[in-house]
Amino acid sequence: MTSAPHDHDALAPPHLEEVSDGVFAYIQPDGSWCINNTGFIVGTDAVVSIDAASTEHRTRAYLEAIGTVTAAPVRTLVNTHSHLDHTNGNCLFGPGVTIVGHELCRADILGAPPVETGGGPFPGVEWGAIEKAPPTLTFADAITLWVDDVACELRYVGTPAHTTNDVLAWLPERSVLFAGDLVFNGGTPFNVAGSIAGAKQALALIQSLQPAVIVPGHGEVCDLSVIGPIEDYLDLVTETARRGRAAGLTPLEAALECDLGPFASLLDPERIVGNLHRAYAELDGAAPGAPIGMAALADMVRYNGGKPLRCLA
Ligand SMILES: [Zn+2]
Repeated sequence: MTSAPHDHDALAPPHLEEVSDGVFAYIQPDGSWCINNTGFIVGTDAVVSIDAASTEHRTRAYLEAIGTVTAAPVRTLVNTHSHLDHTNGNCLFGPGVTIVGHELCRADILGAPPVETGGGPFPGVEWGAIEKAPPTLTFADAITLWVDDVACELRYVGTPAHTTNDVLAWLPERSVLFAGDLVFNGGTPFNVAGSIAGAKQALALIQSLQPAVIVPGHGEVCDLSVIGPIEDYLDLVTETARRGRAAGLTPLEAALECDLGPFASLLDPERIVGNLHRAYAELDGAAPGAPIGMAALADMVRYNGGKPLRCLA
C-alpha cells in the first residue's frame, strides 16, 4: 500500500507547559491535521483532563506525561468537541473515568463511522487500538467541574462553530481558557462541520471572557491577540464565498482563485475549500451545522493537486 510521507519522527516532541498553578497544557507540535493539544488540572486526589489525543501512541504518551506531574488518577475527561483527534483516545483513560461533553458531542461520536483504521482522508496513520468511547455525562448549556477549589466551567458556545458541539473549558479564577478548535494558533481555521457565522460568535464569546491565557486546540499557548486574525480569516472566507457564488464559481474554483494573503503560510491551507463549502451552504440557506456531505473533503484533496491531506499523527 502506498501512503503519504509519514515523517512524524521529524516533529518536535510534545511538551508540558504549566500555565497556572497545577494547570497544564500539553502541546503537540506542529499542530497540523490530527495533532491536537490537551491539558489537565491537578487536584489533591484526582486529575481532570481536557481532551484526549488522536492515536493510541499519542494518548499513551500524554497519560505518561500526566504521570510525571502527579500520581493522582484522571477521574474526569472533558471533550471540547467530537472530532477524532480530540476523542479517539477516550477509550484509553480506563473504565472508571467520567467523560464529559456536550450532548451533541456524544451523538456525533456515536453517529460517526467506526474509528479510522487506515482509510479515509488520512492514509498511513497508525491509529492503534481505538474504540468508540463517547461522553458518559452530557449537558446542553453549561456545567461546572471542581478540582479542589478551582472551578472549571464548561460552556457550550451556543451555536455550531467549529463543530455542532464546541465547549469552552474556562477557569475564571485563573483566567485560563481551553478553547478547543475554536482557536488554531498557526493553523488554518476549520469550520466545515460547523458555521462561519457561528465561529465569529464563538470568538466574541471568547473575547468577552477576557482570558489571560488561551490553550488553543492546535498550536502553542497564546492569548487574545490571536483572535483578530482568525476573525479576519473568517471574513475572507465569507467575502470569497459571496463573490464566488455571484460569479457562478464552485467552492473549489473560488478557493483556487482566492489569494490567501497573510493566511497562506498557516498550516493546512486547503481548509479554505471546506470553509467555502460551509459558507456557500450558509448563503444557500442551510442551517448552521447542517451536514454538507463529503464533497468538501474530496475538493480539499483536489486543491492539494490530488495528494492526500498531510497528516503526521
Ligand atoms: Zn476539531
